[in-house]
Amino acid sequence: MTDNMPALLVQCRQAALTFDQGPRAVVAVHGTDLDIRVGDRLAVVGPSGSGKSSLLHLLAGLEQPTKGTVARAKSLTPLTTGLVFQSDSLIPALSVLENTALPLVLAGRSETAAQETARAALQRVGIGMLAARLPQEISGGQAQRVAVARVLAQSPVMILADEPTGRLDHATGGQVLDCLLQAADHSGAALVVTTHDPAVATRLGTRCAMRDGRLLPVKETS
Ligand code: ADP
Ligand code: MG
Repeated sequence: MTDNMPALLVQCRQAALTFDQGPRAVVAVHGTDLDIRVGDRLAVVGPSGSGKSSLLHLLAGLEQPTKGTVARAKSLTPLTTGLVFQSDSLIPALSVLENTALPLVLAGRSETAAQETARAALQRVGIGMLAARLPQEISGGQAQRVAVARVLAQSPVMILADEPTGRLDHATGGQVLDCLLQAADHSGAALVVTTHDPAVATRLGTRCAMRDGRLLPVKETS
């Protein structure tokens, strides 16, 4: 019965994340059941403080659940889990090409091989001509494309993007989202995007709402 289902990448079962703040505990994520499978396109929509980043950190393995379980497929390594943040994720002293190649270099690839892969990824997201620039010499939208290229170069199995369009105007944000969707399609990766913008969320296949640490499915209206 389940044989035709795409492979499971992450399985959360009653996964919760509580931050211990001395006498006050903050429950960032209440017991959550969530499956991420190959090919998934999921948007998590919610206001600031609702627990979106915390949920993403659980999926990424950056945080361990304080209750429940988060099981991750063996194919998900730090390299194949591609993270895109809201902004400021580029290292100022490194060129766009060096920034894009960095995860591969850190994973042990030679500089030459890493830069070859990085250059192809930059070209794929349409910014090959920016390779030699420094982060301060490109726009915010271009910087987010670099972040997407960097993830693409990692041959990701899952891409987790935390408010990737949050600091961009609507048109630029739309282009970055196009770029993310193309990168996920090209690499065959699952894609999870958090956002507070419902317009961004409708571009993804499945939408969930995050409210006060609780994940709720959103009924499709089409
Ligand atoms: P969102 O990404 O939707 O803005 P977060 O996941 O960042 O929400 O935060 C959810 C809740 O957890 C908030 O109340 C926030 O203050 C709290 N929180 C997040 N990270 C920490 C932390 N490292 N220590 C303590 N509380 C935190
Ligand atoms: Mg957040």
